[in-house]
Amino acid sequence: MIVGQVIELRANNKFITYCRKAFGVRRFAYNWCVEKFNKDYAAHCAAMSKYNKELSEYKKSPLQFTQEPEKPKLPTWQDYKKEFNAIRKEKYPFTYEVTKYASQQSFINFGQAVSKYFSNVKNKKNSKRKVGFPAFQKKSYHRGRFYIGGDQVKIVIGKTCSKKLENHSNKQYLNIPNFGYVQLKEKLRFNGHINSVTISQRADRIFASFSVEISEEEYQRTHKAAVQNNTAVGIDLGIKSALMLSDRISIDAPKPLRKKLRKLAKLQRQLNRKNHPRTKGDKTKVSCNYIKQSKKVSKLYCSITNIRNDFTQKITTILANHYEYICMENLNVKGMMANKKLARAISDIGFYKIKQNLKYKMESKHRFLQEVDMFFASSKFCSKCGALKKELTLKDRVYECPECGITIDRDLNAAINLRQQIKNVGAASSELKPVELTALLSDLVINGIATSSCEAGIRLKDYNY
Ligand SMILES: [Zn+2]
Repeated sequence: MIVGQVIELRANNKFITYCRKAFGVRRFAYNWCVEKFNKDYAAHCAAMSKYNKELSEYKKSPLQFTQEPEKPKLPTWQDYKKEFNAIRKEKYPFTYEVTKYASQQSFINFGQAVSKYFSNVKNKKNSKRKVGFPAFQKKSYHRGRFYIGGDQVKIVIGKTCSKKLENHSNKQYLNIPNFGYVQLKEKLRFNGHINSVTISQRADRIFASFSVEISEEEYQRTHKAAVQNNTAVGIDLGIKSALMLSDRISIDAPKPLRKKLRKLAKLQRQLNRKNHPRTKGDKTKVSCNYIKQSKKVSKLYCSITNIRNDFTQKITTILANHYEYICMENLNVKGMMANKKLARAISDIGFYKIKQNLKYKMESKHRFLQEVDMFFASSKFCSKCGALKKELTLKDRVYECPECGITIDRDLNAAINLRQQIKNVGAASSELKPVELTALLSDLVINGIATSSCEAGIRLKDYNY
């Protein structure tokens, strides 16, 4: 089982300089590939059309040719890597100043980008997302990352690595190739084989993201045991309350972007006035003020992301701990993102991340996440009698059933319908008992997640399952 942990590094200026260098080398090698590939691909396309012509002629009268025309080949990332490494010592000696992975991993990443692009072109019809042609990577002043493979990763306790570090003897240090030891601000929680580390910069902080292979026992030791209760929940995702559980709990997302939008716009405006080729559209010299201002912008972005990630991680962990079966709608996020008014709200809540995180957390706890096709129209059925109400618009916040007369919150109605789907499959499941509900609520409160019990518009008498 692979788990991850992100730990901030205690970076001094020297280390930040090293990182900037490594980011640069990574970007340089990647862009080197892109430039070569652009030329090679154009040549390849021309060669292919020539080949197709020749081949059809060959098929008509093979005797004209001495041999069958050879199909032109597009160079792979391995070819590029070989070519790059052949001239590396002579032409790009600066790439040796940092870890070998900074340049070498770029080729693998580039290869992935190319194959992603081609497989996307191939399955144009059934792929939801469009993948672009591999593009040049831009320089960013306060962002960047590079990879270090498992064989070069070494974590040591302070006193063993240097005399200077004896004072901080119980702290963990990460060995950075061609640099030295950098202190980790937290301890690595997991015992296991470290597959890789990715060093990244966000605003003015440097992080190390570890990928660790651990055993099942280690997972049990490091993760909170899930509540065993054979319960099921339907979750309706929405804009108004981000998550509506069929247990009548509605959870609001923090929506950090909406709160900081004005400040962000102001900072961006100020950034646009600073001197930089990007803002002026010519070859202006990059000004120090631009770099300073861009730091402010990236700091704000960083805090927005942090707030959102914090919420997503906490809520998904809680849900995976308390429910054995979860049913959600398979939202067409792309379709919703096409609506510009909705797009910002949706990306601000982070539906995609919520789903992704929930998926792997449920899987690692051997629990079940069911996705229901969006055409299921969970909000249009009555959750009590199953009558279909066709003329339900987005404006109707309360569901009134024409058949049985029940009045129920629209999102809750949808959530209950989703839970019903699990029952239909045959998995034994029930609602949370009051004790379990209290436990769930207290978990939500401890983690500072705002909730509100959804009572509006429900006549509890009628609501009896
Ligand atoms: Zn009804």
